[in-house]
Amino acid sequence: MSGPDLLEGRAAVVGGLPVTRLLPKRAHRTVGAWCFADHMGPADAAMQIGPHPHIGLSTVTWLLAGEALHRDSLGSEQPIRPGQLNLMTAGNGVSHAEEAGRQQLHGMQLWVAQPEATRHGAPAFEHHAELPVAEVPGATATVLVGALLGARSPARADTPLVGADVVVRGPSALPLDPSFEHALLPVAGELRADGIPVAVGGSAYLRPGRDALELEGAGRLLLLGGTPFEGSIAMSWNFVARTTDELDRAHADWAAADERFGTVASGLPRIPAPS
Ligand code: MN
Repeated sequence: MSGPDLLEGRAAVVGGLPVTRLLPKRAHRTVGAWCFADHMGPADAAMQIGPHPHIGLSTVTWLLAGEALHRDSLGSEQPIRPGQLNLMTAGNGVSHAEEAGRQQLHGMQLWVAQPEATRHGAPAFEHHAELPVAEVPGATATVLVGALLGARSPARADTPLVGADVVVRGPSALPLDPSFEHALLPVAGELRADGIPVAVGGSAYLRPGRDALELEGAGRLLLLGGTPFEGSIAMSWNFVARTTDELDRAHADWAAADERFGTVASGLPRIPAPS
């Protein structure tokens, strides 16, 4: 069993909020179907992200501090608070806006690539106000997506996936699905995985074939995993597809305000695609 690969995130600013981009990485474009991860804050900041489109992915929003408001082209208007999950699936096209007044903001914005079977389908939105929590000695896990420690999330998953928020208080062991690859994304504290320090601002990648993960220290991390994604994805801006033709079409359709993306009831200006 090989040890974790350590990867550095990179700083960016999204909608006024400082973030650390942890996925995609050149060495690992995807981890399971997880294809994007921004660690947002922690920061005393406001967030204003005007209407923008997505295709071929699900957005998974998870807050550790603060409150944000999601509005989308399906008519959803959903506040989200720590411990709750917003999961929006784009399929052939959706658009949404996200905003938060100035406050202490901390969270994780994740994307999951959709498989061929659903990526041309209808958009959808789910809010889960409560999620299952499981305990092992030394750690508590909230299961966002998939299953961990016998607890299963009610959230939609189009491919075999796990996503969990794990609070570590001391030495602990988490069982892993050996058919999954995993990534550890620390969000607070000082943590070691298999005895190796994994710092906030970076991530650790774990190859398939492991049935357990040893954690130590005191902190909090997101555990993401899944069956290695079949085939390769093409990503551009907010779009996940398979070919550059599909991406070009999505850019053109957003620029033309094509009905595939609907409209969002938001006071914020629509975000133009970067040229
Ligand atoms: Mn978005």
